[in-house]
Amino acid sequence: MNESGRLIVISGPSGAGKSTVVGKAIEGRHDVCFSTSVTTRAPRPGEVDGREYFFIDRERFREMVERDELLEHADYVSNSYGTPRAFVEKKLAEGMNVLLDIEVQGARQVHEKMPGAVTIFIAPPSLEVLERRLRGRGTDTEEAIAGRLERARQEFREADFYDYLIVNDNLERSAHALCAIIDAAQWRFSDRAEWLKNQ
Ligand code: ADP
Ligand code: 5GP
Repeated sequence: MNESGRLIVISGPSGAGKSTVVGKAIEGRHDVCFSTSVTTRAPRPGEVDGREYFFIDRERFREMVERDELLEHADYVSNSYGTPRAFVEKKLAEGMNVLLDIEVQGARQVHEKMPGAVTIFIAPPSLEVLERRLRGRGTDTEEAIAGRLERARQEFREADFYDYLIVNDNLERSAHALCAIIDAAQWRFSDRAEWLKNQ
């Protein structure tokens, strides 16, 4: 069977543990790749153009939107972010599962446009734990932590359309759950019905 890959969309508040869980879940897996987004925000120290993001200016971003070169896009805290369409379509056609780490508005667009996409929301066990993790990470000011907590509350309210919710209270279990979801997505009847018809 010559199959295309699955689009796997992951969201969740900053500090929920998304990168840690994803990193552990896809360790050693050759069937999953990451999509690198474009953003208008400035690189943080240590970030490399083409690795964390493609850093572009507002003019170029607008051009990409006009030319329909983005699969989805959204504004987040005064900057714009988007998923380049061409890379995702090429990798899916090659049979790779493509992982997007995007915020809730973008995930909703993908959910509506691409019904085959699998959407996963990763949440911290509680807002108190989220606050502790953000402090523990040591990268945010008190003001930024307050802003991220408020944004987390808002995302909890908006996240009513996801297929899966992983409450990340145990890293091993969360990574195992994510792996299982990616594996199960390969066997969805709706994506494979053609095979039966062709027999
Ligand atoms: P995100 O990518 O969602 O912003 P990170 O992966 O950077 O979050 O995780 C935020 C912090 O929480 C990190 O310090 C990470 O080590 C820690 N963390 C992640 N998952 C867990 C977990 N299940 N239990 C305890 N700490 C965790
Ligand atoms: P940061 O600036 O901290 O790297 O990312 C801010 C937020 O933007 C995160 O929630 C991240 O998931 C989201 N994000 C990153 N890339 C994209 C994208 O291509 N599209 C959308 N909609 N959100 C994105």
